[in-house]
Amino acid sequence: MKTRDYIELENRLGAKNYKPLDVVLEKGQGIWVWDVEGNRYMDCLAAYSAVNQGHCHPRIIHKMKEQMDKLCITSRAFRNNQLALFYKDVCELTRSHRVLPMNSGAEAVETVIKAVRKWGYKTKQIPEGKAEIIVCENNFHGRTLTIVGFSTEDQYKDGFGPFTPGFIPIPFGDADALEHAVTENTVAFLVEPIQGEAGVIVPPDGYLQAVREICSRRRIALVLDEIQTGLGRTGKLLAEEHEGIEADVTLIGKALSGGCYPVSAVLSNEEVLGVFLPGDHGSTFGGNPLACAVAREALKVLTDEGMIENAAKMGDYFMDRLKDMNSPHVKEVRGKGLLIGVELKPEAGGARPFCERLMKKGLLCKETHTHVIRFAPPLVIQKEEIDWAMERIRQVLIP
Ligand SMILES: *Cc1c(COP(=O)(O)O)cnc(C)c1O
Repeated sequence: MKTRDYIELENRLGAKNYKPLDVVLEKGQGIWVWDVEGNRYMDCLAAYSAVNQGHCHPRIIHKMKEQMDKLCITSRAFRNNQLALFYKDVCELTRSHRVLPMNSGAEAVETVIKAVRKWGYKTKQIPEGKAEIIVCENNFHGRTLTIVGFSTEDQYKDGFGPFTPGFIPIPFGDADALEHAVTENTVAFLVEPIQGEAGVIVPPDGYLQAVREICSRRRIALVLDEIQTGLGRTGKLLAEEHEGIEADVTLIGKALSGGCYPVSAVLSNEEVLGVFLPGDHGSTFGGNPLACAVAREALKVLTDEGMIENAAKMGDYFMDRLKDMNSPHVKEVRGKGLLIGVELKPEAGGARPFCERLMKKGLLCKETHTHVIRFAPPLVIQKEEIDWAMERIRQVLIP
């Protein structure tokens, strides 16, 4: 079968909830992927940061196969040896006190919504049914009904109501807006350290410190969604480290398995996850031994192989090279580490055609929010490979 046969089959039988580029991939290694015709591409999206460690990382794949031969799932009706060790590894690495493992990122978000509400009712005497969570405009936290209900993106919601109440949107990057939005019923502030899907929006310096201070003073939980920014992507293990703060609760997912398996986790202080009692929450697959073994190895690979430091160094290099290009199409280059957005001027005609041209030249990336090209390659990328990418990007961005 050829590329167009796969596409025809997909279009005929699948729900049309995605509009992918017309490339059908069958193999990957590190930063490279190959299509069914044998063409090689550099992956500059890294599955929305799920594959920070690079495609099919040999150590992660080896550990996964080893665990699969031993035990894959027990459900949480019984204990498994990998779960406790996963807790230990993840708590040591992130200095968390309690962990709740789930599968997808959206499930981690749903989990934290339940946890902070219950925490608020228990500790703050909020009247039943009145808990409020403050969120940001242009947020992206996943696609379940509760989550899209507090999206400010019309298309994410259109036709899907009614929605879960109790969410208050405020502008992103504006700490005063948070101060003003807090009421006696506020339980938490849920925010991404950098808004990825919104177009790689970096808040002003000091924003996280300011919201940390407000949340502590007003006794509300600061919940950072680091599902995209976490695990090395921005050049630190967690993006909160750029401002030297600690969230009360941190959500991670995506690269937690090196892209090999859906694994997410809620990382919490003692208090917030401490409110859960047996029966309050669960997931058949959450915390299964295969997921835990894969996640443990994916975390080790990230630190053992210096990927976080590499993301910082290569991110600076990537961003500097993009800025030096001085393309007349580009309005702004922004980001942190290897999470980079190139915002095109409106008259450039949208980012999609640029991504399609890059694809033809062997570089895969995806537009986000019409005018932004996101570059977020696996964190193992090297200088020569960035130079290779830059030649292609230049051909597309310089008329
Ligand atoms: C991808 C993402 C999610 C949702 O994760 P899924 O695994 O797709 O459910 C949530 N928050 C952020 C910031 C994300 O980037």
